[in-house]
Amino acid sequence: MPKITEEVYYIPGQDEFMPDAHAYILGKPSTQNLTLVEAGLVGKGSYKIQSIQKAGIELSWIKRVIMTHTHLDHIGCLAEIQKKIPWAELWMHRLEAELLEQGDERTVYGMDMFRGFCEEQFGLKPGAFKFKVNQKLQGGETLDLGGTTWEVIHIPGHSLGSIGLYHRSMKILIPGDVVYADYAIGRFDLYGANGPELKRSLMRLAELEVDILLPGHNQIVKNLPKGYILKTARQWEPYLK
Ligand SMILES: [Zn+2]
Ligand SMILES: [Zn+2]
Repeated sequence: MPKITEEVYYIPGQDEFMPDAHAYILGKPSTQNLTLVEAGLVGKGSYKIQSIQKAGIELSWIKRVIMTHTHLDHIGCLAEIQKKIPWAELWMHRLEAELLEQGDERTVYGMDMFRGFCEEQFGLKPGAFKFKVNQKLQGGETLDLGGTTWEVIHIPGHSLGSIGLYHRSMKILIPGDVVYADYAIGRFDLYGANGPELKRSLMRLAELEVDILLPGHNQIVKNLPKGYILKTARQWEPYLK
């Protein structure tokens, strides 16, 4: 499990016929108060737990899981991970938390056709993604996570309750699926997605100074060129109407 800084570990996703989100561990290990960001695709929980243990991190140090959003490739193995760390709290944006607590899985699957495919592929039953959420985020919070400070930014458009986590002094951004490397952005055709909102969210992120971009998929970037997010937003602008 590669270390990005002393306070951020990276667990690469294992894509197969479907993408599996990257996960990140935030916090100084000495505080024994760590945060797992994202879970991943169905079936992709145990290797992530093993990667954490191999890095010398005790599972008991993981106090919470924060989801950037609740698409299947991020939340699919949450139940699997919760079995290993049942004490860990679950934090996410209020808009997706409220859906999950009601057993509303529209955000998880994004579209009905995909739901049918996944239920068959993974043997999932309706109600598989009903979760109790311990902390409902709004955006605007400053979180102290194991001796590191992260700002929560609500960046809807890819999904209703997408959030980004931003470490201002280290200039690290965890944007979920809102923006990736190689001038790519998240899709905006699934349930709760909205092109103009995604554009506003990208413009919001473009105001931040970011050196390290840790997205939900594909490459991570350690020396992000200045103006990268703005340039990405501008390239996509004609499609985000
Ligand atoms: Zn997504
Ligand atoms: Zn994703």
